[in-house]
Amino acid sequence: MRFESLKTLSTRKNYVTENKSISFTDLFNSNVFDDSAMRDFLSKEAYDSVSNSIKSGKTINRKMAEHVASGMKRWALSKGATHYTHWFQPLTGSTAEKHDSFFEPENGKAVEKFTAGALVQQEPDASSLPSGGLRNTFEARGYTAWDPSSPAFIYENTAGKTLCIPTVFVSYNGEALDYKAPLLKSLNLVDKAATDICKYFLKKVSSCTASLGIEQEYFLVDEAMYQARPDLVMCGRTLVGHAPAKGQQMDDHYFGSIPDRVFNYMYDLEVEAAKIGIPLKTRHNEVAPGQYECAPMFEDVNLAVDHNQLLMDLMDEVAKRHHFRVLLHEKPFAGINGSGKHNNWSLITNTGVNLLSPGSDPNSNLLFLTIFINTIKAVHDNSDIIRASIASASNDHRLGANEAPPAIISAFIGSKLTQVLNAFLEDSTANNKGEKKSINIDKIPEIFRDNTDRNRTSPFAFTGNKFELRAVGSSTNSAQPMTALNTAVASQLIQFKADVDAAVASGKDLKKAIVLELKKVLTNAQNILFEGNNYSDEWAKEAKKRGLSNIKNTPESLKAYVSQQAMDTFVKNGIFTKEELHARYEIMLEDYMKKIQIEGRVLGEIAYSYVLPPAIEYLTIVATNIRTLKEAGIKVGKAQKELVETIANHIDMVKIKTDKMVEARKKANIMEDSEKQAISYHFDVKESFDDIRYHMDKLEQLVDDKIWQLPKYRELLFLR
Ligand code: ADP
Ligand code: MG
Repeated sequence: MRFESLKTLSTRKNYVTENKSISFTDLFNSNVFDDSAMRDFLSKEAYDSVSNSIKSGKTINRKMAEHVASGMKRWALSKGATHYTHWFQPLTGSTAEKHDSFFEPENGKAVEKFTAGALVQQEPDASSLPSGGLRNTFEARGYTAWDPSSPAFIYENTAGKTLCIPTVFVSYNGEALDYKAPLLKSLNLVDKAATDICKYFLKKVSSCTASLGIEQEYFLVDEAMYQARPDLVMCGRTLVGHAPAKGQQMDDHYFGSIPDRVFNYMYDLEVEAAKIGIPLKTRHNEVAPGQYECAPMFEDVNLAVDHNQLLMDLMDEVAKRHHFRVLLHEKPFAGINGSGKHNNWSLITNTGVNLLSPGSDPNSNLLFLTIFINTIKAVHDNSDIIRASIASASNDHRLGANEAPPAIISAFIGSKLTQVLNAFLEDSTANNKGEKKSINIDKIPEIFRDNTDRNRTSPFAFTGNKFELRAVGSSTNSAQPMTALNTAVASQLIQFKADVDAAVASGKDLKKAIVLELKKVLTNAQNILFEGNNYSDEWAKEAKKRGLSNIKNTPESLKAYVSQQAMDTFVKNGIFTKEELHARYEIMLEDYMKKIQIEGRVLGEIAYSYVLPPAIEYLTIVATNIRTLKEAGIKVGKAQKELVETIANHIDMVKIKTDKMVEARKKANIMEDSEKQAISYHFDVKESFDDIRYHMDKLEQLVDDKIWQLPKYRELLFLR
């Protein structure tokens, strides 16, 4: 298979999209039921009711929904769509859909139908999707419900087009079975909480939206090489493979010129993305060989999340056209960088003010500081929840592995803002000569806009006008960390406002009360601020001294979902019920366990069917050679015998350690308690993978190249 694949690769022709030299401005949103399509296809009344619902979250009444459905149907048919589907994001991490045709037979003819009922709510059953027990109790039905805040779009496959309606997925009792329902709740919560704060400063603000720009890193490998690697096919990452002589040490890939075949892929992807309204803006080579990144313009969080989920689907599909496979796994290859999905987040008012952008006058600076300091406090208080929100079997490989922030959640703000905060706490500013002057509240220190300090090692970094959550894994649905962040910030802002209002009620001046409260909040949050190198061992020690958590594995970090903190943050604010949190905890534990179980099985198969056979074959060749030499009376040197012994030893080790891992798996499998099971899968099963791999990788180096079966790292990473 390996040599077949190499041959296929060497004769590959570049696939070039038919959409060469196309106008992106014409293309953009052409498959989206966007504002202009709605104006064309809806009555004024129906249009107003949808716009109103998007702006205020008000539900659309049945009569209007009937009008919207009819307009949407006409639009979709005019675009050539034949089917429609509710499109949703169950807790599997993928997107889900179940198509229905528009046409129905009527009196021997076919008519195209799409009613309000079909638009607003469906019952896809979908009983095999994870529910964490929520659906087993007495009512197994699951419903999808239209989310008008994310516009319907048409997804093109080679043979046809489908109208997709973004929806939330809930149980009969209204419990969330997806990522979107809680995300939408958290967005409403943070909207209200931030708007209430804004009213202290800017009377005209009536709403705030959280915005999100998602940078997406990924790897591309050739399809033929991919197919010759059972670990890539089954697990999305390599479980074995010796590091190539040249990896990323020359830094020659990062921001290098994009290989033509990859460029064609990116271009094609951008065309498809533009059609469904994903505003891709940047593309470049990343650090590791074979690694790339794309990033869109930021959008409202809800839309940014939907678009990122769609983008991942598109990436996969478009890659196949180009005979590539896209790897979205956080760590497809050991020894070189893995992939993340930086989540750039901020809050923006309906009047266009970015609340995380330092202002130019004292009033707006105080507003900025209020949001800024409370955000830091929110992350401080909820660091374990945020850690849990980015936890997965695949992200475990990346966190703290020399290219991504560690599992310790800290915040970076840059030297300028550190000075500002210190001065704020001391109630004084330093002038040019370094002399300290007492400040009065109206003269909050002038904050420089060009705060361009960067710290690429921080999990939560302030980057001038937004925070960047850098710990999110490349395959994660960002809804989960965004739900955690929005809720944490909202919860903190609500508390802050209550404290300020109480102070004002007791006779304090409003601005003075805000400053005083902010100082308290900052003092209590300060130990999460860290400006140094997050990758260093010193930081791990320092963080421990400060009492910050450093939870390195998924099963243990997930406990935060059922902790007191989760009750205080999520349950109190109505984002999750206690039952929903427990269900999610179960689902995530099980997901973890299953992923490691699959990896364990594949590793076993690789050991026995791919690595041991060529190793034994080669061992036999060398041993036979020694015997032949001896029989011919030729002296055999020590080195050859050593070679045999070394190979034989690695073969033994692979077998012994693999068998031990299989035994550990069997033990873990019969555990009833999913928490214990996941922990056992982590410590007893997964922890042995590297050890088994070590011996297999040694064999890869020792065994004759022409009988080695698995494509090597060099071939996967450098050939295209
Ligand atoms: P980097 O230097 O980290 O690569 P970029 O300037 O390229 O950052 O931006 C990364 C992402 O941040 C982009 O998707 C961009 O649209 C987004 N972004 C910029 N401003 C904001 C904001 N106010 N809120 C949310 N995301 C933003
Ligand atoms: Mg970035």
